[in-house]
Amino acid sequence: MTLEISVPRGKSIDIEALIRERLSWIDREYSRSVNTKRILGPDRVMFGGQYLQMVYIEDLKEELAPNLSRGEVVIRTGERRRVRELVRRWFLKETSAYVVRKVREFSPLLGVRPGRVDVREISKWGYCTRSGRLSFNWQLIALPERLREYVVFHELTHLFEFNHSAAFKRKLASICPEFRNRERELNQIAPYDRMVLE
Ligand SMILES: [Zn+2]
Repeated sequence: MTLEISVPRGKSIDIEALIRERLSWIDREYSRSVNTKRILGPDRVMFGGQYLQMVYIEDLKEELAPNLSRGEVVIRTGERRRVRELVRRWFLKETSAYVVRKVREFSPLLGVRPGRVDVREISKWGYCTRSGRLSFNWQLIALPERLREYVVFHELTHLFEFNHSAAFKRKLASICPEFRNRERELNQIAPYDRMVLE
């Protein structure tokens, strides 16, 4: 990692003093960047909290075959830039099945009745509208089980209480007592808005 400092030309600036002044900011930004786990890297992808090595094979037929016990996902395609699209389709399918299953399982525990549930390309992990529609990030399946569950708990609890009030937290704690730990862990994983592979 490099730290780049730009200073205006022709001005004499005490760079060391400048760094000292901004040290806590630099420190904070640095630890944030090293503590953030990325879902997709150039040659690995997170799935269920586990990093899978992406093995790319040039082939005329397209196929994506995860092998969790071997810790890899074999991706066959004619063009390397198609990898992103194949991962996206895989995640969409897996996240949709997961969300449908978990919403059905957890709703009775919270005593809520969800309306529409969908999986979309959104920047947050999940959200709930006032009309009770739940949306989940298509990358949800990448998270460790305890964190994907937490996202479902959180959004379902919004059907009971729309804000993040004390009542919301009490209800959430009734189904997920250590929700604060999970929230903290979740904040260390960044959904990728742009899956840049090359
Ligand atoms: Zn919320």
